Amino acid sequence: MTDPRPATDPLPVNDRTRHRRLADQGSLDRADLDAILDAGFVCHLGVVIEGRPVVVPTVYGRDGRRLYFHGSVASRSLTGGAPVCVTVTHVDGLVLARSVFEHGVNYRSAMIHGVPHKVTDPEEKLAGLRCLTEHATPGQWSYARLPNRKELAATTLLALSLEEASVKIRTGPPDDADGPDAELPVWAGTLPLTSTWGTPVSDPALPPGTPAPEHVARREGTGQG
Ligand SMILES: Cc1cc2nc3c(=O)[nH]c(=O)nc-3n(C[C@H](O)[C@H](O)[C@H](O)COP(=O)(O)OP(=O)(O)OC[C@H]3O[C@@H](n4cnc5c(N)ncnc54)[C@H](O)[C@@H]3O)c2cc1C
Repeated sequence: MTDPRPATDPLPVNDRTRHRRLADQGSLDRADLDAILDAGFVCHLGVVIEGRPVVVPTVYGRDGRRLYFHGSVASRSLTGGAPVCVTVTHVDGLVLARSVFEHGVNYRSAMIHGVPHKVTDPEEKLAGLRCLTEHATPGQWSYARLPNRKELAATTLLALSLEEASVKIRTGPPDDADGPDAELPVWAGTLPLTSTWGTPVSDPALPPGTPAPEHVARREGTGQG
């Protein structure tokens, strides 16, 4: 069924997603959310296990308005059916102000609130795993061996709706250029941070001369995040 919502509808503002502090850094643009999610592939999955919060770094994939997570069937963070909070963060640089108080970070971050469910339908499970693989490494699903029945049975796949999400973005110089500290003889500015893919390193166990596939090799020197 076609999704009746416009692709550009704003992110919902409710009691959970409403930015209270540093609200000027908030964005309600769904395109910003998609861009942040697509620029990364590792998130932090916050869950409550036996009454205590646990924040698990894990890989994700985005398919439209849905995020997928996967892992071992034994994973206690992937039970599904309980509220989670997921964050994705890209650090774009340090913001070095004249005063320590005004120091900060340039960043793009997304936070998703929701209750994920376990994907059990075999077709959707395979599609979700494909999404996860392709999200991190486009071209890899049709290159590597696909999961067999035993591997699929050992894997949990969770799906989380992207309906309840928020975005914050900070860009630009420090905020203290128009205050009394502007007179201080202190350098202020930003120190940008970028991530770039390196040269593929072949597994030493490969037959000598086995080249990296094109979809991997071509990422060298390109940005991540
Ligand atoms: C790399 C990085 C470093 C940061 N360092 C600091 C720091 O040192 N000190 C500091 O005070 N803040 C820092 N922040 C900002 C921080 O993430 C919070 O936005 C801010 O502290 C407000 O927190 P709060 O609990 O008062 O949020 P509230 O404004 O009460 O949050 C309400 C809702 O707003 C949304 N929201 C809040 N923060 C974010 C976010 N970052 N991304 C997406 N949605 C969000 C969520 O839906 C949340 O439920 C940093 C952010 C990033 C990405």
